[in-house]
Amino acid sequence: MTTYNDDNIFAKILEGKIPCNKIYEDKGVLCFQDINPVSKIHVLIIPKSKYVSFHDFVSKANEETITSFFNSIKIIVEKLDLVNSGYRLITNHGMNANQEVPHFHFHLLAGENLGGIKSK
Ligand code: AMP
Repeated sequence: MTTYNDDNIFAKILEGKIPCNKIYEDKGVLCFQDINPVSKIHVLIIPKSKYVSFHDFVSKANEETITSFFNSIKIIVEKLDLVNSGYRLITNHGMNANQEVPHFHFHLLAGENLGGIKSK
């Protein structure tokens, strides 16, 4: 697993050096629109702390941080009114998943029928 690199684009968004279309923010989490959406609703949910990927996050973060992160996702899903219509959460880790940005994030896809898991 690689070490965290502060040059990644999400680190720059968190520092305010690059703009984003913010959907939600709290103490530990930022949620913003994906610049290249693959579904009608496509947002990214990132912790403000520095973790490379899901594996890095669950290996290093304490339980409170992990629980709080998942609770923020729940809040975002409810804020976007997606519980009844449905949604998909995806996180890519590493080479075979073609992770592009090495700052841990979930993709939240929704707003239309997303098809099978391999279609998006
Ligand atoms: P992943 O392959 O899981 O690392 O996904 C990275 C995601 O970040 C892709 O869906 C990109 O479209 C998205 N992305 C890259 N740069 C930006 C940016 N400046 N603002 C919003 N989303 C971005």
